[in-house]
Amino acid sequence: MSSKTESPTTRIIAVTNQKGGVGKTTTTINLAAGLARQGQRVLLVDLDPQGNASTGLGIDYDQRNTGTYAALMVEAEPHTLPQPTAFENLSIITANNELAGAELEMIGDERREYRLRDALHALEGDYDTILIDCPPSLGLLTLNALVASDSVIVPLQCEFFALEGISQLVRTIDRVRRAFNADLHLEGIILTMYDRRNNLSELVAQDARGFFGDQVFETIIPRNIRISEAQSHGSPVLDYDARSTGAIAYLALADELIKRNKNKTKA
Ligand code: ADP
Ligand code: MG
Repeated sequence: MSSKTESPTTRIIAVTNQKGGVGKTTTTINLAAGLARQGQRVLLVDLDPQGNASTGLGIDYDQRNTGTYAALMVEAEPHTLPQPTAFENLSIITANNELAGAELEMIGDERREYRLRDALHALEGDYDTILIDCPPSLGLLTLNALVASDSVIVPLQCEFFALEGISQLVRTIDRVRRAFNADLHLEGIILTMYDRRNNLSELVAQDARGFFGDQVFETIIPRNIRISEAQSHGSPVLDYDARSTGAIAYLALADELIKRNKNKTKA
């Protein structure tokens, strides 16, 4: 009982949207870096077999241990899974090619939806926030993320058809809540790749706010070339170019998330 009050609880957040290319990985990396910069102990879990978050944090393929695959297939002791990154307060459980086969391998197993949850719960207390970068589908990997998480962040790309598929995602979250994880909630929607020269961006932002109200984060992530450059250099944008609009926005998102959660705890 006492340990609960001594060590602050770990918040586990899935970053998900079944569409590819909407900014999930970018948001996971840079929000993780922003929270770490604010002094939180952060763990990023790369749950996408493409391993973009692992690469984006500078972990070359041959430096990766068995990572998320081992977490799901329960071969390894959970504490051996995280590895440090070059960035302070930021660790990662990496993804590799084996992860692509995990969905099929798990399919007949009992408790297949709880694999990630079991592994991550063993790490609770070691981190303030665990962020999970999900693959672009609503399959068994994403289901594992939703079952393991306290909440969900949904990146929404300010482009055509941004809201398409969102109702399916919301229904999936509802279903997971009923069947597996009663406390799961929507942490927030984050507008990404906002281009203020493009009217469409503003229209998507208005639409999203009309639909989801204050569940949409106030912070908006602009389209900023420094963000994708940073990724190709294996670095969060904060470490690559702290003055860029992208770095400033992701740091603001981290602040907003921290503030929101403080208010929630008080309420
Ligand atoms: P997802 O993980 O949803 O598939 P990514 O985060 O990989 O999406 O983003 C898709 C592409 O868009 C990547 O090449 C990434 O570098 C780029 N990108 C993401 N967010 C931004 C942004 N705010 N500004 C510029 N490029 C971005
Ligand atoms: Mg991705």
